Amino acid sequence: MNATVLTFPKGGIHPPDYKSLTAEMVIEPMPTPTSLELILGQHIGVPCSPVVAKKDKVAEGALVGEVTKGMGVPLHAPVAGTVSNLTESAHPIQVSSPSVILRVNKKEEPKSYQSSDWSGLSPDELREKIHLAGIVGIGGAGFPAHVKLTPPPGSKIDTLVLNGAECEPYLTADHRQMIEHPDQVIEGARIILSILGITECLVGIENNKPDAIAAMSSEAEKQTSAEARIEIKTLEVKYPQGAEKQLIQSVTGRRVASQGLPADHGVIVQNVSTARAIFEAVALDKPYYEKVVTISGKGIARPANLLVKVGTLVKDIVTHLGGTTEELAKVVLGGPMMGFAVSTLDIPITKTTSSILFLTRDEIDTDLFSNCIRCGRCVEACPMGLQPNEIGVYVEASQGENTTKFGTMECFECGCCAYVCPSKRPLVQFIRMAKSQLKRRAAG
Ligand code: SF4
Ligand code: SF4
Repeated sequence: MNATVLTFPKGGIHPPDYKSLTAEMVIEPMPTPTSLELILGQHIGVPCSPVVAKKDKVAEGALVGEVTKGMGVPLHAPVAGTVSNLTESAHPIQVSSPSVILRVNKKEEPKSYQSSDWSGLSPDELREKIHLAGIVGIGGAGFPAHVKLTPPPGSKIDTLVLNGAECEPYLTADHRQMIEHPDQVIEGARIILSILGITECLVGIENNKPDAIAAMSSEAEKQTSAEARIEIKTLEVKYPQGAEKQLIQSVTGRRVASQGLPADHGVIVQNVSTARAIFEAVALDKPYYEKVVTISGKGIARPANLLVKVGTLVKDIVTHLGGTTEELAKVVLGGPMMGFAVSTLDIPITKTTSSILFLTRDEIDTDLFSNCIRCGRCVEACPMGLQPNEIGVYVEASQGENTTKFGTMECFECGCCAYVCPSKRPLVQFIRMAKSQLKRRAAG
């Protein structure tokens, strides 16, 4: 293990992390509810088309939806059951999405999976297994994993970076998987190295997770060979340490240009939980239909790290954990910095849901915003070196389409600027508005 603590050079913030609410919570499988809502548009790219009809009986792991044209991945039944409807479900980010409703057959025994040797498979065969298992990047926008593992022609990839930073406050799902399943995460990394035909893997973990660093270091040592040189890199606790460009700079020293791709700099990044899902797809032949989700905040009776089936409704999770507290003020899907507030609990878990936060009034900011006082703190905090203050002022003056010069399209909406603003200005919302105005103008 390299004891040097690494970080990215520009901007960043240190919000309270609230991770102690769930950091010690062992991953707990949640009993499957009576029905699941499987949204057909689970990820970036083309949504699935259903391959089942009402009243069809499906087995655990059976195909429910697939993408025949364009970028996408298939969707599988997380349990055995009967299709009770093809309808629309509330979507965590879009308003609604076509979905398959599965009535769960509780009498069916859960399927068991046996590990098999994947070492004789070619890169294309490994990629195909990942594709067929329906894996998308976990915790982010959900980019199909097999596409990310197909670098553009001409790019010379030499390093795999595994993202174990989990820098968003409250979140501990990756942390628990690194402690409880380091063998599977590291084997997933070896599979990715084999696909890419490279040997170097650097795993970045923030140093507020010494137990994960220890577990992953010991496993990396066991699985390191001439074909897979896996090294754990300790990162400073600083948000957004897990953002792709910042992570690459922290662990490799390479700076990815604002419009550039990691592959342009010889790097592919995958999340540690995605690496584990890749292990399950390749070694166990298990489709990606369940995931670890952190349920936290002072507004839930019992915070937990739950293994839940994709399609489980948030309200069923709340019931399982004993309900919400009287002080509950806001429910957020994802982390508090980059997540989305939701107004209903009738929302299903998707492949990209990393956490659900039940926040009380003292955990959120309810102050009204005021004018920019030109203090410059947002500029200092921005890890991309942008000018969010100017973007905000322009948007308020209905000139969002004139903000390219301040870096609007380079913003990845980390929220550092809004966090430090003494005037409580909703800078990320301003930037989203500017982006949509710029996109509208580009579309003519
Ligand atoms: S949200 Fe955008 S502008 Fe604000 S700090 Fe993050 S990258 Fe910079
Ligand atoms: S932090 Fe807020 S008040 Fe200060 S310059 Fe940025 S937008 Fe203006």
